[in-house]
Parts: sequence; structure tokens; C-alpha cells
Amino acid sequence: MQNFTFLNNQLISTLTDEYHTPFYVYSQKEIEKQCQAILAIPAPFGLTARYAIKANPNTAILKIIENTGFHFDASSEYEVIRCLKAGIAADKIQLTSQEMSSEHLELIIKEGVRFNACSLEQLRRYAALAPRNSEISIRINPGLGSGSSRKTNVGGPSSSFGIWYEQVEEVKALAEECGLRITRLHSHVGSGADPAVWERAASLTLAVARQLPEVKTLNLGGGFKVARHAGEVSTSIEAVGQTVADVLKKEAEETGRNYHLELEPGTFLVANAGSLVCSIDDITHTGDDGYTFLKINAGMDMLTRPALYAAHHPCIPVSDSDEQVEYVITGHCCESGDLFSVSADDTLEPRLLPKSNIGDTVIIEGAGAYCASMSLKNYNSFPQVAELILDHEDKAHIIKKRETMEQILVNEVLPSYL
Ligand SMILES: *Cc1c(COP(=O)(O)O)cnc(C)c1O
Repeated sequence: MQNFTFLNNQLISTLTDEYHTPFYVYSQKEIEKQCQAILAIPAPFGLTARYAIKANPNTAILKIIENTGFHFDASSEYEVIRCLKAGIAADKIQLTSQEMSSEHLELIIKEGVRFNACSLEQLRRYAALAPRNSEISIRINPGLGSGSSRKTNVGGPSSSFGIWYEQVEEVKALAEECGLRITRLHSHVGSGADPAVWERAASLTLAVARQLPEVKTLNLGGGFKVARHAGEVSTSIEAVGQTVADVLKKEAEETGRNYHLELEPGTFLVANAGSLVCSIDDITHTGDDGYTFLKINAGMDMLTRPALYAAHHPCIPVSDSDEQVEYVITGHCCESGDLFSVSADDTLEPRLLPKSNIGDTVIIEGAGAYCASMSLKNYNSFPQVAELILDHEDKAHIIKKRETMEQILVNEVLPSYL
């Protein structure tokens, strides 16, 4: 009998009887539990928690998270529009984006969505359209890097995110010239599980806030790491919360400034609240010195993290065999990079798993964040898969239908000369 984060054998067989694999399944209870853990952080001068929509933007997930009291962090203007369409109030949404086209900026200003300028140019573009004296947030790069690889690092000199902390004087001069008031300060360096890194990120951000007298809200971003498998450490949200609360109290004693705290978890809320349910399509071997491959009916087109970052997701065959076999798990795309059991240096990493057969179900865990949302959709013309949510009684509801071939082709145009 295997252990799953939120599924069990009975539930899996009920789901696979009713729905064709592959599909994503999420747990409302798990999501709500994680939301509550964040909302319990003892911020001394108030807390607003924002969900980083990009982790999993499905409307049903947004609604569940909103109902716990969360606000939202959008990473593009399109995520803002998605939220507005979901009926989320504009003042609960803050936009922090790499690209800021003027196309939607007017809408964002008109609706009253909060804007977090990530560069001097964004500040200028916003000022050109916003009423004078508008309140604004700025994102700074406090000079501290983090993240488990270059591809997930979002701070320090090699990261393009935010305004470099040494440019604060320029920002102040520009804001004054444009008639904008900087009342909120933001940094997101992906601090991870170590409270000491959070302490350092908070202190560096506060040092910048000391130069910006109108700032009342300090947003420290997200990046609360969760363990997806046995070898990883999860953030102790109590320890990080207490550390940040202590830094804010100390700052209040030293400067008399009481900062309202904002946090923006994405991964922490949904990563372990989602699994990809798939099946073994084929099993092949490459001889005595080779490998045994479990070929599953899922792949990088729906879950890209292993191919992109060599991310480790538990892949658990639903098998009651006591015999253990070393398997390499491969996806269904015609691409040798479509590999689920991959080592950090990007080589095949066989896993010891219960002996499995063609047709067995496989549960890929830790698949709630940056999986459905960040996939190489439609590679090999595979359709986007269905997504389900389990309610409080573990009853499944469809929250995204499986895509049809017609939908894949809908925007293709065959010019008449062909
Ligand atoms: C992606 C992102 C987050 C969330 O990061 P997680 O690692 O998923 O917690 C928060 N804030 C901003 C600005 C982001 O871009």
C-alpha cells in the first residue's frame, strides 16, 4: 500500500473509473490548510496575503483561495484580466510584471488594480497614464539572490527583476517629477525555507524603505519552499513568520515606522495540493547494461518542470507488488528530454519502484504549482488535460475540460494560395 499526499487507493480507482487518464486532481482541503498557515503569521501591524496566480490560475482555485481571505499577485496583465473576469475586486489585485504593455495599462488604472513598478521605465509609463498623486508600489532587487538554480533565481546582480537597490535616489526623483507617491515597497527574491534568508531579505528591503518616507506597506514576495519529496525541506511557516514579525517590531522600535506586511506565496499554497494521474502505456528495456523504461501517457507537454529544471516529482505506480524494480520514467513526447526520473545534472536517474505493469495508474505528486500553468502546451499536438478538484467530501468536480482537437486547431489559418 503506497502513501499519497491526499489521494488513497479507493479514491484513485473511483477517479480513474470515471475519468480517462491523464488528468490533474487538486485538493480543496490541502489548499485551504496552506492558506490558513500563511494567514496565521503574527504580523505585528497587519498582514495582506496575496496568492501568486501564476502557480495555478484556474478560476476555481482562485475562488477557493479568495474565500480564505487572500488577495492576488498577478504576473501579467492577462492574469489581471483573468482575475477580473472571475469577479475578484480590482483592489485585491496587484500587478508585478516583467512586461508592461500600454495596451492594458489604461484598463488597469481605470479599474483600480494596484501597480508595482518593476523598472524606471514602468514607473514612467504608469505615470504617463495615472492621475497625479497616485499611490504606487515599487519592486526592488535588494541585491540578494536565492532559488535552487539560475532558472529560479529572482534576485541579485544576475537577475533582471525589479529596480536595483542602488537606484533609489533616481526612483525618488522620477516619482517626484511624475507626481507619484511611493507608499508600498516590494521585493521577491524567492527566499526558500531558511528563516535566516528571510531575515536578511527583510532587513535589506527595510534599509531601502528607510530612504522612502511615505512607504507604509512592505511586501516580501513569495518563495516559501515546500518539500515535494523525502530529500527536501519544507519551510517552517511558523519560524519564518516569527522571524519576519521580529524584524518588523525591531524596525518599529528603531524608526517608529509600523509596516503593514504583505506576502505572496504561490508554491506553498498549491504545490502539494495537486497530482497528475496518468497510466503506464508501455514498458521497454535496453539490454543488460541499459535501463527499464516506464513510458507513461503524460509528458512535458502537461508537466514541464523535470525537463526545464530537472525537478524531482514523486512518481508512484499504483501497484501492490512487493518486488522492487529500477525504472526510468519517460514521458510520451518524441523528445529525449521528456524524462520524469532525471538527476540534478540532467542524466537518467532510475528509481526503485514496485514492479509495475502496462495499464497501471501512476500518481505524479507535487504537481499543483507551475505544472498545469507552466507547460509546453500542445507539443506533439497532445491536448491540454482535464483538471479536477476534490471538495471537502472528496467528491470530484471538473474545473477544466480536456481540450479537443478542434480547439487546438481553432486559430490556425490556411492561406488560400495553399
Ligand atoms: C512567482 C512570484 C511569487 C510566488 O513565488 P513562489 O515561489 O511560487 O512562492 C511571488 N511574487 C512574485 C512577484 C512572483 O513573481
